[in-house]
Order: sequence, then structure tokens, then C-alpha cells
Amino acid sequence: MTQLAFVFGALAGLIFALGAVLLVKRLRPAAPGWVKNYDEAHLAAFEQWPTTAFVLDPASERILAANPAAVRNTGYSLQELRALPFGKLFAGEGMEGQELMRRVREANSRAPLELRQCCSDGTQRSVEASCYPLTLGAQSVLAVAVHDVTVRRKVETHLLEKHQELDRLAHHDQLTGLPNRLYLQVHLPEAIEEAKRKNSVLAVLFLDLDRFKHVNDSRGHETGDKLLKTVAQRVRATMRAEDVVVRMGGDEFVVIMKGVGSTEQVNEAAGRINNALCAPMVVDGRTLVTTVSIGVALYPRDGADMGELLRHSDTAMYQAKDRGRNNFQLFSPGMDKRLKERIAIESSLRTALQSRQLDVHYQPIVDIETHRVVALEALLRWKHPNHGYVRPERFVSIAEEAGLIVPIGDFVLQRAIEDTVRWRQAGATIVPVAINVSAVQLQRSNIAETISRLTKQHGLDPSMLQVELTESAVFERREGRAREASQDAVGRLRELGVHIAIDDFGTGYSSLSYLKRWRVDTLKIDRSFVRDLVTDMSDLAIVSAIIAMARHLNIKVVAEGIEGWPQLEKLRQLGCCYAQGYLFARPAPAADCVRLLSGSPVDLTQRIPALDMLESTGSGEQPQAIRA
Ligand code: C2E
Ligand code: MG
Ligand code: MG
Repeated sequence: MTQLAFVFGALAGLIFALGAVLLVKRLRPAAPGWVKNYDEAHLAAFEQWPTTAFVLDPASERILAANPAAVRNTGYSLQELRALPFGKLFAGEGMEGQELMRRVREANSRAPLELRQCCSDGTQRSVEASCYPLTLGAQSVLAVAVHDVTVRRKVETHLLEKHQELDRLAHHDQLTGLPNRLYLQVHLPEAIEEAKRKNSVLAVLFLDLDRFKHVNDSRGHETGDKLLKTVAQRVRATMRAEDVVVRMGGDEFVVIMKGVGSTEQVNEAAGRINNALCAPMVVDGRTLVTTVSIGVALYPRDGADMGELLRHSDTAMYQAKDRGRNNFQLFSPGMDKRLKERIAIESSLRTALQSRQLDVHYQPIVDIETHRVVALEALLRWKHPNHGYVRPERFVSIAEEAGLIVPIGDFVLQRAIEDTVRWRQAGATIVPVAINVSAVQLQRSNIAETISRLTKQHGLDPSMLQVELTESAVFERREGRAREASQDAVGRLRELGVHIAIDDFGTGYSSLSYLKRWRVDTLKIDRSFVRDLVTDMSDLAIVSAIIAMARHLNIKVVAEGIEGWPQLEKLRQLGCCYAQGYLFARPAPAADCVRLLSGSPVDLTQRIPALDMLESTGSGEQPQAIRA
């Protein structure tokens, strides 16, 4: 378009200049015939040229001559045009009088001047003017060619708007209207550059909604979308106008804070977001509560470029999740190490499942009065080829997140059933085996169906199995389908005759009404209350309350983690019936457990040798052997 305008402008200028010269020649005596024809041709070209052309006296700013197209296009007669100052006929953005003249003089077909042409009927047209200096006798004048670009401008404006709209669509999230990941990819490097130039601090906050998947699963995607919209609005409203809030996708958001004065300022902002999202949201007439985990990385402290800042804020966000969600964490280099470890664990865990590195050990649960083994707890073990035994605490949550907990859980179940059958075949008096089942496993697998199939296959009564669920797995407030899934699963287990135990009791959402409703068989008091039972008065109060409450509800109580005689004696006095801990036996492989299953009181003087060297007391002491 520009090239065309240039050629067109140059041509117009040439012909127009020639025509303008002829204005002068008209006043001279007639030339020879061919010259006359030549002059007439050019005069005709000037007269009939389709676009506006003027001869302008720059000193007086008056139009000396104008072609008929000028008369047509402006709506003024030739006389009127001559009487009009140039500045009345044309206006330019921010140009008046001398400035307008100066710019007109400088304009040429390569760089035409953009002007508004004010027509006699009051309308305005967009035009481009280019200019050529002419000498008329002793007078220096300007030949001005004017080209109407109104239509072109309209098209250009339209295209620009379209482009901006497309740009907006590409860089914004349809659902929430917030800038999206693409936008961040352009904006964040720019913001980092700016911070570098200004020597200032920039904060990247990585937000991930807690358990958003549950909302989607239980209430459907439409509700999930509405919730995300509200979240987006709340986060946006919490931040300063100059902060950028981006939806990365799913339930992930990123906030960029520029010119951060102190970490305190970032902490406050993150705290405000946490608070804003905590307040209940009404979606489709129902109240939903969502929380968010936030990880923060600062430029330049935690990363030099976009990749590093996003990675580290994401790592810190995972740390926030690990710390119980609904909080924020500033990145620290130690976190990165943990994340790498986590990724390494996840990938080698996949191989562990296939290459028989997983094993199950058993720890007895003992009747405090009779010293008989009343049950065995199956505890998962991972014998890593390089790292030795890895404890479940380090990999169960990773297995849950990586979707490996279901096949791992099935493996434990199958192994426990097979081991029980083997003990029975070896002539042992078998006792119920307790299996730990995580919340994710309870919801995602049909555990009752698996137990039913496996017990049938091996000729074992399902009542020989006990499922240990943590309080959070069963009682945690869940919505709709997720809660129903847990309830159904527990219900089906009960129907099969499987016993239900609540593990690590006291650490979670303890509630009497829940215990009643779920018809729990056993409570296992968490080790943290048992450890200091003898010295800590509040632990003593909690444990005695749990025992009293359980007796009232007809629920059995097992105290976990008994390492010393004084604890055992205290528990006996409080009326606790069962105990489990290093004092009796450490978890051991199946083959070593046969001796515990004789049916007679356990000879606790012969403790089972602990193969699992990672079973330390925590205090550095070796557990005492029990004397009868
Ligand atoms: P838990 O179910 O509460 O198991 C008891 C834990 O306490 C076991 O740790 C056991 O080795 C340890 N322990 C027992 N007596 C003592 C003691 O006297 N002193 C000390 N310091 N510790 C004692 P372990 O085997 O590392 O298991 C940790 C947790 O991992 C278990 O806690 C359970 O929640 C989970 N877990 C274990 N096996 C499985 C499994 O097959 N599936 C799932 N989902 N989780 C499992
Ligand atoms: Mg357990
Ligand atoms: Mg426990």
C-alpha cells in the first residue's frame, strides 16, 4: 500500500508540477506548434487530474491555484479556495500556523503528511499531502498534492481493531477474562528486564486451588468453572492495579508484583489472597468453600529468568500444600532439593512396583493384659536397590499424587492375604491383619470388590481383615460425590464383614458423632500422644479422654508406638486394652511372624529381630526388650 502510494504520489507530483508551471506559461507569448500541444497536454493533465492539487504560497499561506479536483473534493469554489488560509482548509494533529507550514514543506511522496481536510459542508476527510517546491518567476511556491485516504484509514482502523481483538483473545483466558499463559510469557521477561534496569525486586506468586478436582468431580465442570471465575475476581480485587494476575490454566494462577519493597509486603499480599478465598462462595445457590496454596519466588534472589522464577514459585507452592494447604511459602533452595528428590522417588517407585522391590512387613498388636497377639498390622516396605529400606511416609503421598497408590494398595492387600494363608498352612493360629488404606485409594479403587474377590480366591474370611483409615480419609468435610464415594466404600467393607479402624486418632477431625455414624470397630491412638504420656499432662488428659469415650461407644482402643514400660503401665491403668510398638516388636517380614501366631501369650523376652534398620526410636535408644 505504501509503495503504491509512493509511485502514485510521485507521478501526481510530476504531472502536477508540470501543470503548475504551465500556469505561468499561459501568460507568455505563444510557442511553436509542438510546444503548444505539449503545454496543453500538461495543462489538461493538471486540470483533469483526479486528485486534489494546489499551488501554495508558503509566505501568505494562501492557495494561488487549485485544480478542479480540489474544487470537487473540498466543496469550495476556486475563488473561495483562494480566499481561504491553508490552515483553515487543512488541520493536522498538534500543528498550527507556522508549524503546519513547516511540516507541509517537509512532506514528500515518501513521507506524506497526514492531515484532516475540512470540507465546505463541515465534513472532514483523512488525507495525505506531499509537497514539491516550485519556482514561479521570482516567486518560490509549493506544489501540494493531496490524496484522500479516508477509506484506507477506515480499513486500517478496522484491521487494527480486529488485530487488537485477536491479540486480546490470544492473550486472555476466555473463562475468567484474565491474561493467560501466553501473555505471561511476553510480560514476565519484560517485567524482569525492567526490575533489572531499576534494580528493584519482583515477586512471582504461584497459586493452586486446594482440592479443586473434588469440586469438579462432585459438582460438575459447570460449577467448577463458576467457582474459578469467582476466584479470579477475588484474587484480582485483592491485588494492586499494577500487579498482574494471570490464569495459567486449570486451577493455577500466577500473580506478578513489581517494585516489591520488602518480603513483608509479599507476605501480606499472599495472606490477603488466602483470606479472600477462604470466605464461602455461593455458586448456583450452594455455598462452596475453597482454599489456595501459594508459593512465592523473588527476583533476583530466587531466580534470574522466567523459567527459574516459575519453577521455584511452583516448588514453594508444593511446599505450601505439604504444610497442610491454605497457606503460602517463600521459596528456599532446600525446597528445590526436596522437589528433585520427590521426582526421583516417583520415577523409581514405578519401577519398584514391577521389579519386586516392594514388600510387606508385619507388626503385632498385643492385648495389654494377656500379652496375646490379637492382630498384625501390614506395613508397606520399599527395598530400594541403592537406598535400602525407604519408609512409607516418604513415598505414600507421592504414590497418591502419581496415581500409583491403587496398584500399590492392591499389592499390599494381595500379599497380606497370601501371607495369612501361608501362616495358616504352617499351622499358625491366624489373627486379623490390618491394612492401611489411604483416602485416595478408598475413593479411586473398589476396595471392597478386591477384598471380596481375593478372600474368596484364597478361602479366607473377610472378617480376618481390618482396614485402617486415617481420620482425614473418612471424616474430612467433603462435598457430594467424593463424600458419597468414601461412605459407600466403607459401607460395602462393613457389609463384607471387614473391620474398620481409625488410624492416628487424635490428629485430625475427631468427632464423636462421626465415630457413631461410621460404626468404627477400633481407634488407634496416635503415637504422638503416647510418647510423652507419662510426663505430659495434656497428653495424659487426651489419651484418658479418648479411652473413656471409646469405652462408652463400645469401640476398641489400640495405643500406637509403645516404646517403654512406663507408657504401657499408664495405658493399662487408664483401661486401654491393646498396644503396638517397638517395646513388643518392630515390624518384621512375614516369615518371622509365624512364631507370634502360636495362640499362646507372646514370649516377649524373645523379640523379633528387626530387619528394618530404619525403625529407630527417634531418641537414638534401642528399644528395650520386654521381660515377662
Ligand atoms: P501407621 O499406620 O500409623 O503405622 C505405624 C507406624 O509406626 C509404622 O511406621 C511403624 O513402623 C511405626 N511404629 C510402630 N511402633 C513404633 C514405635 O514404638 N516407635 C516408633 N517410633 N514407631 C513405631 P511405618 O511402617 O513407617 O509406616 C508409616 C505410615 O505409613 C503408617 O502409619 C501408615 O499410615 C502408612 N503406611 C504403611 N503401610 C501402608 C500401606 O500399605 N498403605 C498405605 N496407604 N499407607 C501405609
Ligand atoms: Mg496403620
Ligand atoms: Mg498410626
